Amino acid sequence: FKARVKNIDAEDEISELLMIYNDMMHRMEVTYEQQKHFVEDASHELRTPVQIIEGHLNLLNRWGKDDPSVLEESLNASLFEVKRMKKLVQEMLDLSRAEQVSNTAELQITNLNEAVEQVKRNFEILHEGFEITYEHNPHLVLRSLILRNHLEQILIILFDNAVKYSSERKEIKITLTEVANKAVINVIDYGVGIDPTEVDKVFNRFYRVDKARTREVGGNGLGLAIAKQLVVSYRGEITATSEVGIGTTVTISLPLMEEEVIQTARKKNSK
Ligand code: ADP
Repeated sequence: FKARVKNIDAEDEISELLMIYNDMMHRMEVTYEQQKHFVEDASHELRTPVQIIEGHLNLLNRWGKDDPSVLEESLNASLFEVKRMKKLVQEMLDLSRAEQVSNTAELQITNLNEAVEQVKRNFEILHEGFEITYEHNPHLVLRSLILRNHLEQILIILFDNAVKYSSERKEIKITLTEVANKAVINVIDYGVGIDPTEVDKVFNRFYRVDKARTREVGGNGLGLAIAKQLVVSYRGEITATSEVGIGTTVTISLPLMEEEVIQTARKKNSK
């Protein structure tokens, strides 16, 4: 990757091509470095559960299997780690798939009002103790060009976090509005919050604010990286604001579909 053409000064087409070549080499180098980092981080993350399981198995192998309480504890701890690994592997796969969203052929017009409502209802059933409110204008249906599955995946990640990092105040508020021709979804929680110096880093792969706490709640630090990759693939944006002890707001914005485009797409589909 070190190959670069130096001292290009002439302003002809060959110089232009050489500059493009240099730029391409630079991009390849950045991608390579990112992939290398990812593999290093992923190996590190997988090593921890493997080591814990190995420790327990060694313990059982030496003498623990004869002691019912050790046996039970080691089996439970090992199962917990296996589940974590399974989740981690699934999340790495999700992240890799999220990077490949560009095939417009499989895009779909999604009714955002409905999709949010659906995820909200499912969450209410799963987390009975939580009060979830949803503010939107039911007469203003917002639509975006995004696979419904992907939108649901993003929302589930944000709702999951709101639950995982909650405090005594078990409330979540979701808002859906239109701002400057974009659909804006806010997922607001009143949980533990994130220090302002760290709030932008939470979208980085494997980043966790409090490793011990996130480990307890089963977090691998990939959820928001997946959500960001998906949102960006649909030319949207995702940001977070937070205050420790007050709560967190995660904001997604997605390009809206124009009414004429929707009508044309419908006509085409019905033919
Ligand atoms: P994880 O699977 O570990 O939750 P995420 O990528 O979803 O990974 O989040 C990264 C980190 O950001 C989390 O480990 C947590 O420390 C912090 N975080 C994410 N969402 C919230 C939230 N709603 N409230 C407080 N902290 C959060």
